[in-house]
Amino acid sequence: MLVEVALPVPVPRTFTYRVPDSAAEGTRVRVQLGKRRLIGWVVGLGDTNPEVDRVRDVDEVLDDAEPSVARDLLQLCRWIADYYVTPLGVVLRAALPAVLSQPARPVPPVRTLRVLRLVRELPTLEQREELFGRAHRQRECYEALEAAGGESDVSHLVDRLSFSDPVLRGLVNKGLAEFIERRLERDPFATMDPAPPPRFALTSAQREAVARIGASMANIAPEGTNGTRAPKPFLLRGVTGSGKTLVYIEVLQEVVRRQGKGAIVLVPEIALTPQTVSRFRSFFGDDVAVLHSGLSDGERFDAWRALRLGRKRIAIGARSAVFAPVPDLGAIIVDEEHESTYKQSEAPRYHAREVAVVRARLTGAVCVLGSATPAMESLYNTGSGKYTLLELPERVEGRPLPAVHVIDLRRAFRAGTRERVILSDPLVTAIHDRLARAEQTILLLNRRGYATFVQCRDCGEVWLCKQCNVSLTFHRARRRLVCHYCFHEEPPPSHCHHCGSGDLSFRGVGTEQVEREVADTFPAARIARMDVDTTSARWSHHEILGRVERREVDILLGTQMIAKGLDFPGVTLVGVVNADVAMNLPDFRAGERTFQLLTQVAGRAGRGDRAGVVFVQTALPQHYAIRCALEHDYHGFARLELNERKKPRYPPHTRLANVIVSGTDERSVQDAAIDAASWVTQTIGRTGARAVTLTGPAPCPIDKIRARWRWHFLLRSDRSGALGSICRILHTRYRPPGKASLRMIIDRDPVTLL
Ligand code: ADP
Ligand code: ZN
Ligand code: ZN
Repeated sequence: MLVEVALPVPVPRTFTYRVPDSAAEGTRVRVQLGKRRLIGWVVGLGDTNPEVDRVRDVDEVLDDAEPSVARDLLQLCRWIADYYVTPLGVVLRAALPAVLSQPARPVPPVRTLRVLRLVRELPTLEQREELFGRAHRQRECYEALEAAGGESDVSHLVDRLSFSDPVLRGLVNKGLAEFIERRLERDPFATMDPAPPPRFALTSAQREAVARIGASMANIAPEGTNGTRAPKPFLLRGVTGSGKTLVYIEVLQEVVRRQGKGAIVLVPEIALTPQTVSRFRSFFGDDVAVLHSGLSDGERFDAWRALRLGRKRIAIGARSAVFAPVPDLGAIIVDEEHESTYKQSEAPRYHAREVAVVRARLTGAVCVLGSATPAMESLYNTGSGKYTLLELPERVEGRPLPAVHVIDLRRAFRAGTRERVILSDPLVTAIHDRLARAEQTILLLNRRGYATFVQCRDCGEVWLCKQCNVSLTFHRARRRLVCHYCFHEEPPPSHCHHCGSGDLSFRGVGTEQVEREVADTFPAARIARMDVDTTSARWSHHEILGRVERREVDILLGTQMIAKGLDFPGVTLVGVVNADVAMNLPDFRAGERTFQLLTQVAGRAGRGDRAGVVFVQTALPQHYAIRCALEHDYHGFARLELNERKKPRYPPHTRLANVIVSGTDERSVQDAAIDAASWVTQTIGRTGARAVTLTGPAPCPIDKIRARWRWHFLLRSDRSGALGSICRILHTRYRPPGKASLRMIIDRDPVTLL
């Protein structure tokens, strides 16, 4: 019998093979493709091909009892392949545990780590000066270890932070640190005993939300079967601290305990949301499989199988958990649905929130998207009637939202001088107050944007594209300001066109500078730092958050990641060092990102008995994203933001696809991008898909990544279907001319254009 096999190769087609008997759709097979041995999936009956002689036999049929891909999951993967213009085999590989698509199963490596650990504290700055003198790298390494919670793996220090061996040995010789071998704890959740579930009476808003969701679940059946269709997805907007998690838990009580069905809970990142995960575990115990990035391939496969067999009924995980093989799915919850980490940055470039909505529809499950700051796309869908809006407008137990104060960076100078400061006087005073009262502070440092914007230090003016309303990116090498939406270019300014000042900034303040200033200003404080660079071992996030929870940390410094879902009652002050970095990304979502970031990070303050306060430092105090965040006014923000996006048209009013061409030779990348763009323009003309427009091409905001040059162009259309068909035609019929090293990527609904 001939079958069509989807293979994980970047070719937009399936392949015909012969199987001895029959093989159901979703069955895994091992095959030869040219000289390569690959694992693929049967996805249909083969064409009765005239050239049957040339069809190869499969080497082996791997699933004997049951296909490894269940019907509903295969259907979901087909939708993804189609919508995100990705070969079905590539989608299937992403949807399944790695061991199922590896022709040769590797032996899991021994999980031990060589770690450098601090053994002596240096509480005062004088001691440090004295001990390190001119050994700056040793001091930096010592402080990096401190920031990472007292230890870090050696490979991280050497490979990522570029400390040399002699630097590490220097610390050991000074008696400050020691090397140890540590068994890597892969699954802290496996050994962690969750606290017993708290017993709260639901607030009336929580009760109402639970009731509405419950009511929608009566009489549902999968699409296509007899009976009614899946309920509309719910968008649960609840202010920070309003108790959204308890609503999710009540929904799961109904679905899992009473109806005996399964459920999936998506969180932005497991390591950053240990509290959310342990709340679910405290209610559902062993029914929960936590799918996180620390699992080995073998452990991941075990969790997958336990779900598939129904031994565990709730899957909790980040993005890819949307593919968890939960049979008889009753609910999918997407917590912090606005997070851009739900979008995968490599093929398949899917958005887990959108996939969750589709999966729920296909299986008749209820879908709940929750956030304090829902994405404009999701809110828009409540306006058009696609989703149902539910709100939790107040914090539990009548706790107030924190007061937010704006500090105008345009006027912030060190007392008596014209020297600009990183930490303003009011913020410094507020931190001192917290230290004196043994309360905790969170300071949000924004990473310097990857792309550089231009801002007037005197009046705050930012250089925007007049046509597109996004900030212009300064390309240093070419000395040009470029808009990455319409590709307009201009020379960089020498003076502010608004106030005439010559004091223009072409870059933000780096996180390292801020850290130094915090350490120098509060030498006695216990400071911990959490960002992607310091947190090496997978679980050191967990470790640092544990120390904050036990009040062993006075000031927690971190990037965006600390704004997510943390619930520490001891935190009464949140400081945002510079709100403008997020605002000036060359991105139409910059205002939305800023509003979300400020609201979320402000939401960390005052979650206990004591009220919280927030200080936001900015040179754009009048901007509506900042004003609305001040007033905790999500709907006010959304009204203005949705209006801004009408002219020029941006999502959610229209749909985008970003097409990126990359390669090692700059000239041929440029030629190929121009060629592809004109091919698409002709295709649009020929097919009459006039609803699609093309802008560009031009170099990407980050025009070179890992030795590859990058050009892009944008496709937009108000009609998703028209945009999809142009993307598919481009994907299947067009090959860039010339060099084989050229690659073309089509990113639908991009979350960034960098
Ligand atoms: P959100 O996710 O909306 O920010 P959480 O779900 O983290 O809020 O809840 C905030 C805090 O309120 C948690 O400590 C939670 O245990 C508590 N909480 C939730 N619901 C109630 C309730 N009905 N009564 C009292 N406390 C509650
Ligand atoms: Zn100015
Ligand atoms: Zn423009």
